[in-house]
Amino acid sequence: MQSILSDAFAHRYGVGAFNVVDGLTMEAVLSAAGETRSPVIVQVSVKTVKQMGARLLRLMFEELASRVAAPAALHLDHCPDRSLIAACVEAGWDSVLFDASALSYEDNLAQTREVVALAHAHGVAVEGELESIRGVEDGMGSEAESPVVPLDSALRFLRETGIDSFAPAIGTAHGLYQGEPRINFERVSEIVAAEPVPLVVHGGTGLRDEALRELIARGAVKVNISTQLKITMADAYRTYLNERPSEYDPMKLFAAVKGEVRAMTAAYMHRLGSAGRAN
Ligand SMILES: [Zn+2]
Repeated sequence: MQSILSDAFAHRYGVGAFNVVDGLTMEAVLSAAGETRSPVIVQVSVKTVKQMGARLLRLMFEELASRVAAPAALHLDHCPDRSLIAACVEAGWDSVLFDASALSYEDNLAQTREVVALAHAHGVAVEGELESIRGVEDGMGSEAESPVVPLDSALRFLRETGIDSFAPAIGTAHGLYQGEPRINFERVSEIVAAEPVPLVVHGGTGLRDEALRELIARGAVKVNISTQLKITMADAYRTYLNERPSEYDPMKLFAAVKGEVRAMTAAYMHRLGSAGRAN
């Protein structure tokens, strides 16, 4: 994870972090990475980890990633539960987002520091978060706008926790945008200028190319894509079955869905600039 993010940050290209929901979508995302020679982050929400188990997901990831000639990392998305973080660290995951945004600033800082100590002792990267990202995703988060922490407090959080990447509130949101989001590009630049750490864009689905390019150029290089994968997957199942009312071969169904998810992912890899960056 650290080498994927530091290369992207140094050369200012975006790396997609795609939220997968099962083995099929994990395989589709990884094969898109192989096809486009793109570094990739395979991301899983707490809800899916609770359903499938940290160890099963890790074993599946290792097998599927080994078939692909591109750097890949397995990352746990928004997790406030430290026991689940410990389970993922134990199972050999590459990275976790400790989401203590519901806690006070001081409690968040103190607990994030402890999570970093545990994770780094196992070579696992940590993404940190101070303000909750607007929008509900897989039962996490809230529709309410959370107050933005002043710059000096955000910088103190970065310095004192030692996190590997940081997800600040910059006006992006989970789910689908109603209208054009007002993105605080300046905040990305201010943070990166003072503490050069890769920043994370939550709510990458629906952002225009110009906004993505601007965010990436300023140092927000990890771009999370969750909603679009769900839409592409559900539409692919729906379309395939509706068009073939007497087809019952699951392998053909899965192949069709996998093809759609792979194409959607590969298109993002070109848009973000990670295509061709695998060496
Ligand atoms: Zn998020």
